[in-house]
Amino acid sequence: MKSALFPGSFDPPSLGHLDILQRAASLCDTLYVGVAPHLGKQAHFSTDEKMEMLRRMTDHLPGVKVVAFNQLVVDFAKELGVNILVRGLRAFSDFEYEFRMALANRKMGGIETWFLMADPKLSYISSTLIRDVAKHGSRLGDFVPPVIEDQVFRRLSKK
Ligand code: ADP
Repeated sequence: MKSALFPGSFDPPSLGHLDILQRAASLCDTLYVGVAPHLGKQAHFSTDEKMEMLRRMTDHLPGVKVVAFNQLVVDFAKELGVNILVRGLRAFSDFEYEFRMALANRKMGGIETWFLMADPKLSYISSTLIRDVAKHGSRLGDFVPPVIEDQVFRRLSKK
C-alpha cells in the first residue's frame, strides 16, 4: 500500500491544488491532504472550513483523506506512517523554497518529496490571487472548483 502526504495552507484551496491532488492520488493508494497551521500568517479561512472545502472538492476521489496537523510536517508524516510528500511546482518562483524544504525534510525525517509540475493552464493561480480578485468583487470560477466557489466568494468579498 503506497501512501503520500500533500501538505499545504490551502487558504483557500484552488483548481491548481485540485489538479495536483488528483494527479498525486492516481499515483498512490492513499493520499493524505494535510491542512497546515499558519505560522506567523493570518489565515483567512479556519482549519475546519478548509478541511470541509477540501472534502467537498475531493468527494469523487476515494483514496483521498483530508486531515489537519499542528506539528512539523516530518513528524506528522511519521505519525501517519508516510514517507513521501507531494508538492506542486509553479514556474521558477516555487523552486528555491521547495528545494530547501525537500532537503530539510529528507535530512530530518528520511522523507522524500515528489514534485508534480503545475498544469501550465493553472500555474498562475495562487491563494493570494484568489483573495485579491474576490476582494474586488470578481467571481472566482476560473480559480476555484465550482463546489466551493460560492462559499469562497461570499467569505472573501465581505472583507
Ligand atoms: P504552502 O503555504 O505550504 O506553500 P499552499 O496552499 O500555498 O501552501 O500550496 C500548497 C502546495 O500546492 C505547494 O506545493 C504549491 O506549490 C502547490 N500549488 C499552489 N498553487 C498551485 C497551482 N496553481 N498549481 C500547482 N500547484 C500549486
